[in-house]
Amino acid sequence: MASITRALRPLSRTTPSARLASKRLATVRPVQSAYAFSTTPRRREADLSELTPTPISLLSETESMMADMVSKFASEQIGPKVRDMDEAETMDPAVVEGLFEQGVMGIEIPEEFGGAGMNFTAAIVAIEELARIDPSVSVMVDVHNTLVNTAIMKYGDAQAHRTWLPKLSTGTVGSFCLSEPVSGSDAFALQTKAEKTADGYKINGSKMWITNAMESGIFIVFANLNPSAGYKGITAFIVEKGTPGFSIAKKEKKLGIRASSTCVLNFDDVVIPKSNILGEEGKGYKIAIEILNEGRIGIAAQMTGLALGAWEHAARYVWNDRKQFGQLIGEFQGMQHQIAQAYTEIAAARALVYNAARKKEAGQDFVKDAAMAKLYASQVAGRVAGSAVEWMGGMGFVREGIAEKMFRDSKIGAIYEGTSNIQLQTIAKMLQKQYTN
Ligand SMILES: Cc1cc2nc3c(=O)[nH]c(=O)nc-3n(C[C@H](O)[C@H](O)[C@H](O)COP(=O)(O)OP(=O)(O)OC[C@H]3O[C@@H](n4cnc5c(N)ncnc54)[C@H](O)[C@@H]3O)c2cc1C
Repeated sequence: MASITRALRPLSRTTPSARLASKRLATVRPVQSAYAFSTTPRRREADLSELTPTPISLLSETESMMADMVSKFASEQIGPKVRDMDEAETMDPAVVEGLFEQGVMGIEIPEEFGGAGMNFTAAIVAIEELARIDPSVSVMVDVHNTLVNTAIMKYGDAQAHRTWLPKLSTGTVGSFCLSEPVSGSDAFALQTKAEKTADGYKINGSKMWITNAMESGIFIVFANLNPSAGYKGITAFIVEKGTPGFSIAKKEKKLGIRASSTCVLNFDDVVIPKSNILGEEGKGYKIAIEILNEGRIGIAAQMTGLALGAWEHAARYVWNDRKQFGQLIGEFQGMQHQIAQAYTEIAAARALVYNAARKKEAGQDFVKDAAMAKLYASQVAGRVAGSAVEWMGGMGFVREGIAEKMFRDSKIGAIYEGTSNIQLQTIAKMLQKQYTN
């Protein structure tokens, strides 16, 4: 009940500062210090039956403040570095430090553990705002918050909370290690093995495609403790950087989100204490499924922000800078229709994202909504970023602006945290169940 009231309370009223998310596009207000976000909104008991439904794009005051703060930080502190980080295929450590200072690496972590104690939608708007400027930084924050922090908050015991959450909210980046060379879409075919030792576990195997690996200090690793039980042997463990036998074998060179590190990890007789298990033995598959269901909403937010960033970049160019045939190119009706169509699709993607986030917060079944949001937002991101390149002509194709980068970055939306085919499969399965007599 408490989480429901918390999620819906802001939507039940209209304050001068609560406003439609779409208005964020036009204004960036001066923002209070990041410490403003350390205050957990008070939970109030409310009679939910009396709530008046409000627009899905309406944000609470704290969510709105989060969006503004992240937007300001992203344009001022990340914006100037985006091109260099992409060219160097490296995340600037000052950006990571800034993200921790701003409080966006522990958005949902309770204040007692150094986090901001905010809600899931606050994390979603932060991910979206970061992606408007740099989808690479956005995915770092996304994986850290929606996969790693959430998994530890949800499945860790009191000791795990005390051990890991303060680190994750104040300075240590996290990674979520499920995929392997042999297991991608078929995630639970993973081959990494764990065995029990006298006072803990020993892990052997390798992981592939691990986001944040170069920056991370904490890795959630899925390994099979009982291969004869199939996926029911899969268990989640926490491995710290520097543990003997743990190594980064390779850093991938990629098409897009190049500042985000993606690595192959090796585990050779990596011994960890008993306390580093996350959740129960054999429950790793459940943890992975549940966490990725939520995480998908984050990727959908990343893709929505990316689409908006590409759209805004091109819209400013066609409506302010470039003239052909004696007029601004954005004044041609052929251009205007495309620009309007793209913006409408972005708004539709955002509605799916926020709806999935609100349903999750309200404790409703959101799995189909999350899959639809990710599928559609990544399609919109691909279309809009591609159009942005075309609307800018040659200037969209060169590396002076961000259109070509957003276009490259958009491709990943259809691949990680479940490919588009896998989202379609989830949606179809749930629909079939609903419509089968
Ligand atoms: C940049 C990047 C970052 C990543 N970060 C992480 C991370 O942090 N942690 C992590 O664990 N993993 C991560 N991944 C892995 C990612 O989740 C996988 O790449 C993804 O799940 C797809 O797996 P795959 O690459 O093996 O493709 P495959 O599973 O081989 O799929 C290839 C193609 O086959 C299709 N296909 C497969 N099975 C079916 C089916 N049943 N029906 C229809 N079509 C199907 C797919 O849709 C796809 O088009 C990352 C990947 C990338 C590229």
